[in-house]
Amino acid sequence: MKIIGFVIGPLLLLIWLLANTIYIVKKIKNAIKEKNKDTKLIVKCENCNKEHEATIDDFLSTYMSKTKSITMSANIGPLGASSTHYNYFAKKFFCSTCNKKTWSEIKNYNDLARKNTKLMMPFIVKYFASLMIGGILIMFVVNLFI
Ligand SMILES: [Zn+2]
Repeated sequence: MKIIGFVIGPLLLLIWLLANTIYIVKKIKNAIKEKNKDTKLIVKCENCNKEHEATIDDFLSTYMSKTKSITMSANIGPLGASSTHYNYFAKKFFCSTCNKKTWSEIKNYNDLARKNTKLMMPFIVKYFASLMIGGILIMFVVNLFI
Protein backbone atom coordinates (compact mmCIF):
# COMPACT_ATOMS: atom_id res chain seq x y z
CA MET A 1 0.00 0.00 0.00
CA LYS A 2 2.82 2.44 0.81
CA ILE A 3 4.28 2.04 -2.67
CA ILE A 4 0.96 2.97 -4.29
CA GLY A 5 0.84 6.15 -2.23
CA PHE A 6 4.36 7.08 -3.23
CA VAL A 7 3.52 6.65 -6.89
CA ILE A 8 -0.06 7.90 -7.00
CA GLY A 9 0.54 10.99 -4.86
CA PRO A 10 3.16 12.68 -7.06
CA LEU A 11 1.33 11.51 -10.18
CA LEU A 12 -1.92 13.15 -9.06
CA LEU A 13 -0.02 16.30 -8.11
CA LEU A 14 1.58 16.40 -11.55
CA ILE A 15 -1.79 15.97 -13.28
CA TRP A 16 -3.25 18.70 -11.06
CA LEU A 17 -0.36 21.03 -11.94
CA LEU A 18 -0.72 20.37 -15.68
CA ALA A 19 -4.51 20.76 -15.66
CA ASN A 20 -4.24 24.06 -13.78
CA THR A 21 -1.52 25.35 -16.08
CA ILE A 22 -3.46 24.54 -19.25
CA TYR A 23 -6.58 26.13 -17.76
CA ILE A 24 -4.83 29.33 -16.65
CA VAL A 25 -3.00 29.82 -19.96
CA LYS A 26 -6.30 29.53 -21.78
CA LYS A 27 -8.02 31.91 -19.36
CA ILE A 28 -5.26 34.51 -19.62
CA LYS A 29 -5.20 34.23 -23.39
CA ASN A 30 -8.95 34.86 -23.58
CA ALA A 31 -8.73 37.77 -21.14
CA ILE A 32 -5.92 39.39 -23.13
CA LYS A 33 -7.83 38.88 -26.34
CA GLU A 34 -10.96 40.45 -24.89
CA LYS A 35 -9.13 43.37 -23.30
CA ASN A 36 -7.02 44.18 -26.38
CA LYS A 37 -9.43 43.56 -29.20
CA ASP A 38 -9.12 47.18 -30.33
CA THR A 39 -5.40 47.45 -29.67
CA LYS A 40 -3.23 47.88 -32.71
CA LEU A 41 0.33 46.72 -32.54
CA ILE A 42 2.91 48.72 -34.45
CA VAL A 43 5.19 46.14 -35.97
CA LYS A 44 8.39 46.83 -37.86
CA CYS A 45 9.60 44.14 -40.22
CA GLU A 46 13.31 43.45 -39.77
CA ASN A 47 13.61 42.23 -43.30
CA CYS A 48 12.29 45.20 -45.27
CA ASN A 49 12.14 47.77 -42.41
CA LYS A 50 8.54 48.67 -43.21
CA GLU A 51 6.15 49.36 -40.36
CA HIS A 52 2.73 47.81 -40.37
CA GLU A 53 -0.12 47.14 -38.00
CA ALA A 54 -0.91 43.82 -36.37
CA THR A 55 -3.79 42.77 -34.20
CA ILE A 56 -3.80 41.00 -30.88
CA ASP A 57 -4.93 37.86 -32.73
CA ASP A 58 -1.74 37.89 -34.78
CA PHE A 59 0.18 38.25 -31.56
CA LEU A 60 -1.67 35.47 -29.73
CA SER A 61 -1.72 33.01 -32.60
CA THR A 62 1.99 32.62 -32.01
CA TYR A 63 1.76 33.08 -28.25
CA MET A 64 4.03 30.18 -27.41
CA SER A 65 6.51 30.79 -30.19
CA LYS A 66 9.97 32.27 -29.89
CA THR A 67 10.50 35.90 -29.00
CA LYS A 68 13.57 38.10 -28.79
CA SER A 69 13.80 40.88 -26.26
CA ILE A 70 16.17 43.30 -24.59
CA THR A 71 15.01 44.65 -21.26
CA MET A 72 16.31 47.73 -19.58
CA SER A 73 15.25 47.50 -15.96
CA ALA A 74 12.94 45.72 -13.63
CA ASN A 75 11.58 48.14 -11.08
CA ILE A 76 9.97 46.76 -7.98
CA GLY A 77 6.67 48.56 -7.66
CA PRO A 78 4.02 48.47 -4.96
CA LEU A 79 3.15 44.99 -3.62
CA GLY A 80 6.43 43.69 -4.98
CA ALA A 81 5.13 43.59 -8.53
CA SER A 82 8.01 44.13 -10.87
CA SER A 83 7.59 45.99 -14.09
CA THR A 84 9.99 45.38 -16.90
CA HIS A 85 10.79 47.97 -19.51
CA TYR A 86 11.53 46.56 -22.94
CA ASN A 87 13.97 48.38 -25.16
CA TYR A 88 13.31 45.86 -27.84
CA PHE A 89 10.75 43.09 -28.28
CA ALA A 90 10.45 41.03 -31.44
CA LYS A 91 8.41 38.13 -32.65
CA LYS A 92 7.58 36.59 -35.99
CA PHE A 93 4.72 38.33 -37.80
CA PHE A 94 3.39 38.09 -41.28
CA CYS A 95 4.71 40.94 -43.43
CA SER A 96 2.61 41.76 -46.46
CA THR A 97 5.54 43.44 -48.21
CA CYS A 98 7.80 40.40 -47.89
CA ASN A 99 4.79 38.10 -48.18
CA LYS A 100 6.05 35.82 -45.41
CA LYS A 101 6.52 35.58 -41.65
CA THR A 102 9.51 37.62 -40.61
CA TRP A 103 11.11 38.72 -37.36
CA SER A 104 9.41 41.98 -36.53
CA GLU A 105 9.92 44.44 -33.73
CA ILE A 106 6.81 45.41 -31.79
CA LYS A 107 7.23 49.15 -31.33
CA ASN A 108 4.53 49.63 -28.69
CA TYR A 109 5.19 46.45 -26.75
CA ASN A 110 5.63 48.25 -23.41
CA ASP A 111 2.04 49.51 -23.43
CA LEU A 112 0.80 46.00 -24.09
CA ALA A 113 3.05 44.41 -21.48
CA ARG A 114 2.06 46.89 -18.81
CA LYS A 115 -1.64 46.40 -19.46
CA ASN A 116 -1.37 42.62 -19.60
CA THR A 117 0.77 42.24 -16.48
CA LYS A 118 -1.95 44.02 -14.53
CA LEU A 119 -4.58 41.83 -16.16
CA MET A 120 -2.73 38.60 -15.34
CA MET A 121 -2.13 39.23 -11.63
CA PRO A 122 -5.51 38.02 -10.30
CA PHE A 123 -5.26 34.90 -12.50
CA ILE A 124 -1.80 34.11 -11.22
CA VAL A 125 -2.85 34.56 -7.60
CA LYS A 126 -5.82 32.22 -8.21
CA TYR A 127 -3.54 29.75 -9.99
CA PHE A 128 -1.18 29.41 -7.02
CA ALA A 129 -4.05 29.30 -4.53
CA SER A 130 -5.69 26.55 -6.56
CA LEU A 131 -2.40 24.63 -6.83
CA MET A 132 -1.87 24.81 -3.09
CA ILE A 133 -5.39 23.94 -1.98
CA GLY A 134 -5.64 21.13 -4.53
CA GLY A 135 -2.19 19.86 -3.62
CA ILE A 136 -3.02 19.75 0.09
CA LEU A 137 -6.30 17.95 -0.63
CA ILE A 138 -4.58 15.40 -2.87
CA MET A 139 -1.89 14.72 -0.27
CA PHE A 140 -4.55 14.42 2.42
CA VAL A 141 -6.62 11.90 0.43
CA VAL A 142 -3.54 9.93 -0.64
CA ASN A 143 -2.40 9.77 3.00
CA LEU A 144 -5.71 8.15 3.95
CA PHE A 145 -4.81 5.21 1.73
CA ILE A 146 -1.21 4.78 2.80
ZN1 LIG B 1 8.86 42.85 -44.64
